[in-house]
Amino acid sequence: MIELHELTKRYGDTLAVDRLSFQVPQGVVTGFLGPNGAGKSTTMRMILDLDRPTGGTVTIDGKRYGHLKEPLKYIGALLEAKAVHPGRTAHDHLLWLAQSNRIPAARVSEVLDLVGLTSVARKRSRGFSLGMGQRLGIASALLGDPEIVMFDEPVNGLDPEGILWIRNLMKRLASEGRTVFVSSHLMSEMALTADHLVVIGRGRLLADLSMPEFIRQNSRTAVRLRTPQPERLLDALDSAGIRVEGGPEGSYEVVDGDLAKLGELAAASGVVLHELSPQQASLEEAFMQMTADSVEYHAGGSTGRPGTDAAGAPGAWGAGWQAAKGAPTPGTQPKEGD
Ligand code: ADP
Ligand code: MG
Repeated sequence: MIELHELTKRYGDTLAVDRLSFQVPQGVVTGFLGPNGAGKSTTMRMILDLDRPTGGTVTIDGKRYGHLKEPLKYIGALLEAKAVHPGRTAHDHLLWLAQSNRIPAARVSEVLDLVGLTSVARKRSRGFSLGMGQRLGIASALLGDPEIVMFDEPVNGLDPEGILWIRNLMKRLASEGRTVFVSSHLMSEMALTADHLVVIGRGRLLADLSMPEFIRQNSRTAVRLRTPQPERLLDALDSAGIRVEGGPEGSYEVVDGDLAKLGELAAASGVVLHELSPQQASLEEAFMQMTADSVEYHAGGSTGRPGTDAAGAPGAWGAGWQAAKGAPTPGTQPKEGD
């Protein structure tokens, strides 16, 4: 098991990792999610003792990486940077790694087969595509048959086939009882792979929960209404005690609203409707709300969906993660029972 306790890394003025504490559970895929610059790669480098923490600790099965005997047998990692000598063949690269880590040479052809590189094993890695390079990196990570594997943004730049392959591989490794820790800046990718989710922003822990729980907390629905008679609609909703929020392009939204009830209410009040539609916030939107304050560079001012209210509060769409952190912010909680 990987265990972080108050792990901190400072580069000059930049607090890259800020008192991060969590555990990576065994036998499942844990997604390590955060926008670019959130501190994912820095955290992973500290796990591997490639970067020295400014504070706190990180251990693998209770020991620091540097204190593990034959570390490749505990943890295999694919970091972002390619670290393969371009003049070396895939086979020789793996053989060198195996020999320097007291791993039987026979394991080389096993992992080449596992990642589908057997046919190009004798080719120099210089000519490898990005996808082949990733496969070779993964072969290196699996060489010691480790209990823990860690991949830093493994699907970046891969074609759909390569992405699918890595996804299935991670699931298979977890189903064999291994600990799989994988980073990404894409919620959509994590939703398809991860069983557990650790979300960070600006080096800080934002959420640590199971994927189903994340989906449950963030799959809020709303009913969108559009009318040429806004005042009449707002009056009718108000009389019925239904809270409404401003939606995009002059529309209105009722969080957790009942489609049929709202349609009937509009009819009974003689309100003409141009739209009455169910809305579902995507997990991507939930993730963007969660990390809105921690994105390093914004494209334009707005980070949320268009329906955020006038005060700039995320409204009900951001509520799930607030609950996850156990620190609700006044004005950002959904109204129950609408
Ligand atoms: P992520 O992998 O989540 O995109 P990183 O861990 O690469 O984030 O970076 C976290 C922060 O630390 C960023 O602000 C980045 O610019 C900074 N950082 C990372 N590595 C270094 C370094 N070697 N020197 C200075 N700053 C760094
Ligand atoms: Mg990174």
